Amino acid sequence: MPQETPDALEGTREGTAERSEPGAGPTQPALATLAVTAGRPAPGPDAPLNPQIVLTSTYHAGGPVGYGRHGNPTWSALESAVAALEHGSALAFASGMAAIAAVLETVPVGAVVLAPTHAYSGTRALLGELAGSGRIRLREVDVSDPDALAGAVPGVELVWLESPTNPMLTVVDLPRAIAHAHRAGARVAVDNTFATPMVQRPLELGADLVVHSATKYLSGHSDAVLGVTVAARPEQTERLAGIRALRGAVPGPVESWLVLRGLRTLHLRVAAASANAAELAGRLSGHPAVTRVRYPGLPGDPGHARAAAQMSGFGAIVAFEVSGGAAAADRVCAGTRLWVAATSLGGVESTLERRRRWAAESPEVPEGLIRLSVGVEDVEDLWADLDGALRATS
Ligand SMILES: *Cc1c(COP(=O)(O)O)cnc(C)c1O
Repeated sequence: MPQETPDALEGTREGTAERSEPGAGPTQPALATLAVTAGRPAPGPDAPLNPQIVLTSTYHAGGPVGYGRHGNPTWSALESAVAALEHGSALAFASGMAAIAAVLETVPVGAVVLAPTHAYSGTRALLGELAGSGRIRLREVDVSDPDALAGAVPGVELVWLESPTNPMLTVVDLPRAIAHAHRAGARVAVDNTFATPMVQRPLELGADLVVHSATKYLSGHSDAVLGVTVAARPEQTERLAGIRALRGAVPGPVESWLVLRGLRTLHLRVAAASANAAELAGRLSGHPAVTRVRYPGLPGDPGHARAAAQMSGFGAIVAFEVSGGAAAADRVCAGTRLWVAATSLGGVESTLERRRRWAAESPEVPEGLIRLSVGVEDVEDLWADLDGALRATS
């Protein structure tokens, strides 16, 4: 079981050390360096190292911004840091859902959106609502099956992907899915919340748009709600900025600053949490109370080979099922002391949740599935607590 740990760590190190080829233009700093350096104010004597939290609704006339719904220097600092990490142009939004809604707003009225049969429940609920009102037409397919995706993509305007998926940890073959979509003339948006740019950069794999719930890993401390879009082409960002301004889905300057502060340690947090997740996934696989573990870092996971090919680590979300279904899973979630029973994910603290407790969750998700967001605590303390709760219920 502990054999997954070196892999996950190694992968993350490789990812953070990635550079452009020598001779292929100016050398790009590694992602770890960008996480620390991007989005800083210009240097100068007594210039602050950190961006200011600019609290203003209005600006003196004569500039390009003018009003607080159109722009803010603290948003810009965060946006330039996220843009550097994802290799595109970024925009900050009031929440992950506001970012997702803005991308869906770029779809013409009545056009077809192809979406996964299971994905983040909020995304699915919004797609369902837009389809119900006739705003879009929705086609759902198992996007982890490249043949099914290829068959469903003709006539589609936008393909929505999530990989690994929330909460089933299904891995989509992103290069193949994106190639099928582009051949059919469709744009591709990827929700990269689970992987983070430290282990997966969908724009490099050909995607047109990336979205994040920055509430999760980018912030990393469970203290802010915020979203981002990152676009391969600047004109897409201009369009999204127009949508953000008119719909008013703007982030708070304080939240923007908190997310940028969190981003400074993204590489460290993701590496430490992923190593913990790999270790716990291995131990859970051998636990008598556990019937199935879903984690792309496990060699036996159906998404392992794909994940190893397109990611430089496996992330820190693990899902598992317990024998005894919903009731047993609820008892496990109520029985931990260190693990916090809570929704949300991606913070330094470990949380767990039975996802089907939400009515909006996909019926494809097993009733007894528990999603772990593995944090950066000591792994033996995490294991002792989880193992204790599992033993007490079985
Ligand atoms: C949480 C989450 C969202 C929604 O983000 P909010 O910041 O809560 O609006 C979108 N996608 C995924 C994968 C998420 O986990």
